[in-house]
Amino acid sequence: MTVPFIDLKRFEDGFVDTFTEKVRNLTSNTSFVGGAEVQKLEETLCMENNVRYAIACANGTDALQLALRAAGVGPGDTVLLPDLTFWATFEAVVNVGADPVTVDVSSTDLQMDYDLFVKAVEQYKPKAAMLVHLYGWASARLNDFRSFCLERSIALIEDGAQCYGVQANGTSIYSGAQISTISFYPAKTFGAAGDGGAVLTDDERLAEKIRSLGNHGREQHYAHGSVGWNSRMDSFQAAFLNLSHPHFAARLKSRQAIARRYQEELPKLGWNCVLPPAGIVENGYLNVTLHDPAARPAIEAHLKAKGIGFGIVYPGAVSDQKGAEAFLKGKVGGDVARRISASVLNLPLFPYMTDAEFAEVLEHCRTAR
Ligand SMILES: *Cc1c(COP(=O)(O)O)cnc(C)c1O
Repeated sequence: MTVPFIDLKRFEDGFVDTFTEKVRNLTSNTSFVGGAEVQKLEETLCMENNVRYAIACANGTDALQLALRAAGVGPGDTVLLPDLTFWATFEAVVNVGADPVTVDVSSTDLQMDYDLFVKAVEQYKPKAAMLVHLYGWASARLNDFRSFCLERSIALIEDGAQCYGVQANGTSIYSGAQISTISFYPAKTFGAAGDGGAVLTDDERLAEKIRSLGNHGREQHYAHGSVGWNSRMDSFQAAFLNLSHPHFAARLKSRQAIARRYQEELPKLGWNCVLPPAGIVENGYLNVTLHDPAARPAIEAHLKAKGIGFGIVYPGAVSDQKGAEAFLKGKVGGDVARRISASVLNLPLFPYMTDAEFAEVLEHCRTAR
């Protein structure tokens, strides 16, 4: 039996038909951009995540750029970000004209290291920082990051592309952030049928700015108060997300159960499976195992030969990317991110993965050496 790394086709019974019918209706009404579906999605995002404002946009990368622009970040400003994240976090900083400085990650939770972050703030006096909630959990020091940045008037943008469904402080992790972002890319935990994103905040002034920037800097239809761009969400994506939402709890529960089973079973095989920090409820976005870099290629080859999909998230540190060279202003810390990149391997994890599939993966992990 082969097991894919991720299978996006396991829709609940009737889901595809319901969406097809919805597309038919939206098309007859030419409800193509914005409108009631987008508004409904934004209301759901506010309610479920305990935030005051949600602005839907075109994708998760745009959400980061809208957040940075709304926070007033631009040329001449320094922005801190973790050295282990998806490349889009770095791109967003560069695309608004600011100078990125990477901060190394903690070897326990694999998120940006808080003590190094404080050091980086003293050294670089950044205008803003990107705190990425990677792998479906978050830093054990989340509250310290938040209060430190408030104290120092640093705009803290929380890249929540991977953390829909994560809980911290007993509520949605998006709650209590200055600004946080979501990606609805299909492979994320709350996925659309294409690209989509959102920015969340409790600050009314920021929310207005974000909405305007993502709609050509509009104040009225043909009155432009600033230079933004078009980052509106289309109605089909919002409709797909609205129809998915009633199933989200079941998908989340399924992911979390599989993530936990890996955490229970893999140590018995001598595998190092990373656990989320205490106090953070993970969403089961990714399974994360760490290996001796010298041994990983043989494990990869074995899984490949047995038809078991896997991920390497991510194969390199941000500061090591060729595209970083021209823009990287600084790098704080050591080479933990690089070491994690050389060690990480992610096993199959997706909603409704079967017991038989799980057993198959585990069996081939047992024999991988
Ligand atoms: C997916 C992702 C993004 C980008 O989201 P898109 O919707 O693909 O533009 C940004 N940051 C992180 C951490 C991500 O995982």
